[in-house]
Amino acid sequence: MIRQLFPTDYIPSIFDLNISELKRNNIKGLIFDIDNTLVPFDVTHPSEKIINFFEELKSHGFKICLVSNNTEERVIKFNERLKVFAIHKASKPRSRSFKKAMALMQTDQNNTIVIGDQIFTDVWGGNKAGIKTILVVPVSERDEWITKIKRGLERTVIRIYERQRKKLK
Ligand SMILES: [Mg+2]
Repeated sequence: MIRQLFPTDYIPSIFDLNISELKRNNIKGLIFDIDNTLVPFDVTHPSEKIINFFEELKSHGFKICLVSNNTEERVIKFNERLKVFAIHKASKPRSRSFKKAMALMQTDQNNTIVIGDQIFTDVWGGNKAGIKTILVVPVSERDEWITKIKRGLERTVIRIYERQRKKLK
C-alpha cells in the first residue's frame, strides 16, 4: 500500500535529471509540476535557468507538459516563455490530467515520467496513472497552508522510502 506513495527516484532538483539516462530508458514525455518543483508557489515566472533547461530538453526531442493544480491564470502566465503543453486545475492526485497530458504529448505510460515535489499529489497521482515518478526536493520552504499540513506526513513516507532504497542498493 505504502509503495503507491514511493517515487521511482528521488533527486535534489530538476537540474539533476539525467538526460542520457532518460533517453536510454526511452522516455519521450516529461510531466512537470510547477509550484515548488520549478519555482516557489509565489513566483510568477520561470527563471532563465529553467527556460534554458527546457529548451535543452526540447532540443533532445522531449515533449513537455506542465500539470498543475493551480489556477488557469497562474499556469498560462508561467508558460508564456516556456511554450509547452499545460494543464491547470489538474486535480492531482486524480489520474485524469496525467492521462490528458500523455494524450497531448502523444506518449504513453511506458515512455512518460512525472517530476514533482509532492508525494500526495505528483507521486501518488503518477503511480495511479501507471507512470514513473521522480520526486524532487521542494525549491522553497514556503508552502501554501494546505501543502504545509501534508509535509509532515510526507517526510515520514520519504524516510521509509529511503530506508528501503538503501536496502536495495
Ligand atoms: Mg508542487
